[in-house]
Amino acid sequence: MRTFVYILLLVFVVPKVSAMGQYNVMVSHNYPPYHFYNSEGEMVGFNIDIINAINNIYDDRIKISVGNWEEIVQSLNSGEIQAVAGVHYPGTSDEKFFYTRSVISTSHCFFYNSDIHSKLSVEKIRTEQRPKIVIWENDVLEHYMLTLNPNTTFIFVNSYDELFKALKQPDVTCAIAQKIGGKYYIKQNGFDFVESLNEVFLERNMGFKVSSDFPELAEILNNGLEIIMANGSYQDIYDKWIKEYDEPPHNWRYYLKDILVWGCIISLVIGILLFFNRLLKKQIRQKTKHLQHQLEINNIIRQELEIAKVRAEVSDQMKSAFLANMSHEIRTPMNGILGFSELLKSAEYGSEEQEYYISLIQKSGSRMLSTINNIIDISKIESGAEKLILKEVDLTKMIDEIYEFFKVEANEKGIQLLMEKGECENPCVIKSDEYKLHSILTNLLKNAIKFTYNGSVTISYSISNSFAKFAIKDTGIGINKDKQDVIFNQFVRADISYSSEFEGSGLGLSISKEYVKMLGGIIWLESEPEKGSIFYIDIPCRQLDAKQEELEVKMQN
Ligand code: ADP
Repeated sequence: MRTFVYILLLVFVVPKVSAMGQYNVMVSHNYPPYHFYNSEGEMVGFNIDIINAINNIYDDRIKISVGNWEEIVQSLNSGEIQAVAGVHYPGTSDEKFFYTRSVISTSHCFFYNSDIHSKLSVEKIRTEQRPKIVIWENDVLEHYMLTLNPNTTFIFVNSYDELFKALKQPDVTCAIAQKIGGKYYIKQNGFDFVESLNEVFLERNMGFKVSSDFPELAEILNNGLEIIMANGSYQDIYDKWIKEYDEPPHNWRYYLKDILVWGCIISLVIGILLFFNRLLKKQIRQKTKHLQHQLEINNIIRQELEIAKVRAEVSDQMKSAFLANMSHEIRTPMNGILGFSELLKSAEYGSEEQEYYISLIQKSGSRMLSTINNIIDISKIESGAEKLILKEVDLTKMIDEIYEFFKVEANEKGIQLLMEKGECENPCVIKSDEYKLHSILTNLLKNAIKFTYNGSVTISYSISNSFAKFAIKDTGIGINKDKQDVIFNQFVRADISYSSEFEGSGLGLSISKEYVKMLGGIIWLESEPEKGSIFYIDIPCRQLDAKQEELEVKMQN
């Protein structure tokens, strides 16, 4: 874009003035960094480079000459020169002269001795009782200073050297000078103790003052400036001579207060944020803990509900199983009792038949009694009403009785009922709940005979390692592996297909298991279908003395 503008300017602007003659432009001899003699005695500076750049475009139409202000004024009035460079616009119109577009803007600022004043500000100068200011002689800013602070006193100087050296006096507040010129001088002379304030005043434009008789020269200068600004040469010249003096001072002390204030504000904000962060973290921790606790409670409730649900389902299944079993187990003997008693009413049966019917009625009655007993036992266990009643039990006596009781039934079925007594002292006595132990052994023996077609049923017992050990072995139908655990559950029968063949409520084993548990023992089985089963029971022998035993019996009652 810049290149495009540059080409346009060269094409349309330069030809308009190319036919004209040469011009003389004068500069003052000592105005660094704008125009001044360097150590080699050459005239150099910002304005010199600007004129040279314009000369490059307009084939060296401008000749530069040097003089002091008096010579410049004289030459201009005599027509010896046609223009002056580095002139500040007066602000009033002048028929005799043109002023070109601004070449650069200049301003003034305060300079102070940073070794004496740690930090100076316009505010301080304005409020100081009697500020002492170093200023160029005849400088218009003297009035400005008096408007700023009417008590200002001045030290007037005629050179930068005097100006900056005066700052070494301890009672001097500061100096006023042109910003770029002053800073240039400070750098060139190594006056490191001098600092400048950021605030600038008396901003003015500097350019060329051209005699009104030579409008074409004004045109060359104006157009030339436009072209060098477009093609980048102006920027290069600015960067070379002015840039570093036009930037705000990098004095960290100047910003110290601001740094401190902002540092405090930022620290305070960070502090507040950290405080709230901590507070929030604490609240989040508490909330998380609360939620975790709530979650744990919910989990427990969920688990309990799950258990309750399973229980309800099991209970429902049990209810169905109970109804199915009970209706069969009560109806069958009941029908037997009613049917055979009806037959007994009739006179057409002889005494032998009548006796047979009576025995069937008795059998049905005892089957019903057994079912009712089972229901009572299981409901007592379920409700927790079943208690232990411990007393001395003579095992030999108990097993003998059971053996005698079932011997008839086994013989009737053509099964051999055997009894084996293992290691046991005489009398073979343990402390246990006689009713429950009797009930367990009866249930197991009854099952063994019930589920055996031929062969034998053996009941064996012994005492070893403080345990009374029982085993009821049969050569019956056996139990499938997958049913061996579940048969201990209420109302469960290994095979429903034989329900009509083998009477039973499915409660015997579950009652036995609960009783064994109450006695502190264990029950398990080994079984093989078609070969038979062995049910094992281990019951701990309790070592109670007479008093303890009495007490326990009392408590349990
Ligand atoms: P039931 O009144 O049906 O005998 P139990 O709880 O005493 O109820 O027994 C549950 C089931 O276990 C029986 O129905 C039977 O299938 C099986 N069972 C128990 N004892 C034996 C055994 N000695 N031989 C084969 N199966 C048996």
